[in-house]
Amino acid sequence: MQRQAEMGQGMRPLIAGNWKMNGTGDSLAEVTAVARWMSEAAPRADVLVCPPFTLIARATALAAGRIAIGGQDCSPQSSGAFTGDVSAAMLKDAGASAAIVGHSERRRYHGETDSLVGAKAKAAWRAGLLAVICFGETQDERDAGRAEDVVRAQIAGSIPVDMDSSNAAVAYEPVWAIGTGCTPTDDEIAGMHALIRGCLTARFGDTGAQMRILYGGSVKPANAGGILALPNVNGVLVGGASLIADEFLAIIGSAPAL
Ligand code: PEP
Repeated sequence: MQRQAEMGQGMRPLIAGNWKMNGTGDSLAEVTAVARWMSEAAPRADVLVCPPFTLIARATALAAGRIAIGGQDCSPQSSGAFTGDVSAAMLKDAGASAAIVGHSERRRYHGETDSLVGAKAKAAWRAGLLAVICFGETQDERDAGRAEDVVRAQIAGSIPVDMDSSNAAVAYEPVWAIGTGCTPTDDEIAGMHALIRGCLTARFGDTGAQMRILYGGSVKPANAGGILALPNVNGVLVGGASLIADEFLAIIGSAPAL
């Protein structure tokens, strides 16, 4: 059992969709479709949809508890003079049960550092949200042979040491694979996820063995089943394909039986 947990097997996968800055009220038909599918099929995965902040309350109502709704970011602050920011408690109040933090687009376009990501993860946790903490190497870092060192450093810097598998999941998202149609090979994903599992168990002990490790980067219906079957892959974080209900449902449906 312990060995199985160390390998990250036996965990119900989490299929998370990140809509990014896409979607208005019309897009919520997808939430309805996915929620209906979850009630009619025998889903082998948990599902989380992270729409823009503006849609969270309406999405939560339509999800009817069948899928989880999350934010794509949260402030590290609880309240105050931080114009334009949204606190974790506000997300929770709107119906969210999770928040993505540290997505590479936040790191790149908003200059977010590991320590800021860690503070956001802690804020999410304090508000009772699951923090989905993202990290991954850039193309240049990969080309320089530094991918593993970068990932180790991001784990050390962005995941608060007092978090556990009930309030944190991590997402390995190689930056060069996001939105490009390129993915690492299965062996490369399995190798990096094994390294991440090792870092999590070294840092968190038993709870690190239970923490979900999601893969993200150009996950599509055609590759999802293979990726989800790899050791230490406990779910996927899906960008582009999560915007198309048929594709997202096909990805959810490709989760292997435990
Ligand atoms: C993402 O934005 O987290 C992502 C993985 O995007 P895509 O699936 O489009 O590569």
